[in-house]
Amino acid sequence: MSLKNKNIVVTGGSRGIGRAISHIFASKGGRVTVVYKSNEEAALATLRSLDGHGHTLQKCDVTNPGEVEELFEKCSAKIGSLDIVINNAGIGYHHPVDKASYEEWQKAWKEVLAANLVGPANVAFQAAQWMIRQGHGKIINVTSRGAFRGEPDQPAYGASKAGLNSLTQSLAHKLASYGIFVGAVAPGFVETDMAYSRLQGASGEIIKAQSPMNRVATPEEVAQAVYLMARANQWMTGGIFDVNGASYFRT
Ligand code: NAP
Repeated sequence: MSLKNKNIVVTGGSRGIGRAISHIFASKGGRVTVVYKSNEEAALATLRSLDGHGHTLQKCDVTNPGEVEELFEKCSAKIGSLDIVINNAGIGYHHPVDKASYEEWQKAWKEVLAANLVGPANVAFQAAQWMIRQGHGKIINVTSRGAFRGEPDQPAYGASKAGLNSLTQSLAHKLASYGIFVGAVAPGFVETDMAYSRLQGASGEIIKAQSPMNRVATPEEVAQAVYLMARANQWMTGGIFDVNGASYFRT
């Protein structure tokens, strides 16, 4: 599939996996809209590093429904078609049930579900309206191995990603007759800011040893999987790609 003149929106494109996704889609000829929340410097660095022309930057907090609506209004004024939307933005932090206060627990569930599930649902809603009108499009959600394996210290994170997998499948079924593909990529640990503290020292060694390759993924490896999914045929809609270096198998 040629990406020449295709428009791709990447949430969380300023850093980590989203930056690598922006790179690979731009290197294949696509025009990328890099969406970020607040880190303008990183977002600009991503934008400047992209191959090709016609890429843009948009500031949007996906937890804010009005900003999500505005994002797609701005995109529609700039780009003709909306070909691929990648729901990559996400957050995660510790709130273990045996240590967190009730207040911290409430905060984590509210914030993490807002960023990792409700936000992507609103992005998917806005993208779907546009894609239904044009009769084609792909939505790819970045979920996590944690959806299947559990996240003992970050339960809201695991639940948010399991919810996003479920949303992927519901939308894949609902939108197939409109020519719209919906899929998910579920990485294990990846070398990014999000995982940085957990990958240090002894805990990092334990995490790396979960894979027989004794390491975690690079952002580029996950981006390649997203690109692979973007090239998948329509019959693969609803699929969830595991990208975890054989660190966890689901049956
Ligand atoms: P990261 O390095 O922490 O980057 C997070 C990105 O998401 C940044 O671009 C950030 O924007 C953006 N973001 C966060 N909250 C947002 C919001 N409310 N609205 C819009 N953008 C927001 O994270 P990452 O490791 O690349 O993770 C990317 C995705 O992969 C996430 O969905 C994550 O859950 C998933 N994942 C990561 C790992 C891992 O080990 N790293 C494993 C499995 C799945 P700013 O730069 O403006 O802050």
